[in-house]
Amino acid sequence: MTRKVLKCKPTIPCDTTQLLIKLGKIWGIPMLNKKLAIEVSHRLKKSLGRCIPTKGLIRLNPILLNTKHSAICEEVLCHEVAHYVVFLNNGPNCRPHGKEWKDLLMTAGFLPSTKLKSSILPKQTYAKKPKKLKIKYHHSCLICHSTWIYKRPMPNTICPHCKEVGVDSKLTINTNPYQ
Ligand SMILES: [Zn+2]
Ligand SMILES: [Zn+2]
Repeated sequence: MTRKVLKCKPTIPCDTTQLLIKLGKIWGIPMLNKKLAIEVSHRLKKSLGRCIPTKGLIRLNPILLNTKHSAICEEVLCHEVAHYVVFLNNGPNCRPHGKEWKDLLMTAGFLPSTKLKSSILPKQTYAKKPKKLKIKYHHSCLICHSTWIYKRPMPNTICPHCKEVGVDSKLTINTNPYQ
């Protein structure tokens, strides 16, 4: 059995250990850098970061690996680490972006913004699901030009108008002729 080893570990463009040590000092949490694991997750699509406080885990959007985003990366990390510290200090029932969290960000020198610059995320990460076309079957009488719409094709329908006057009707069936 051979194990697949990731040859090049993705490197985060800011010094996460230094940042955690710094934040730990500011927020009075010793060994903060040892308490948290930071990983890059390709599953994060809509947000730049996520904190799972119960696991001591922070996930970062791989877009932050781009060195040009290093400043944003630091801000995202601070935002997420603050979630963890709020959890440590106040337990799980604390509001995620409440006063405690805001205070932590301010003391670390960041604006407590809940809308982290997600503008760096690609605009359309997901292909929108195509709307299900409701197919309608337009039945038209070739003799008197009356039309009806049915949900399914009814090739054996007889045109009531033509029937009334005793004429054999002929129908054509079209799906969504106007789309
Ligand atoms: Zn948050
Ligand atoms: Zn008819």
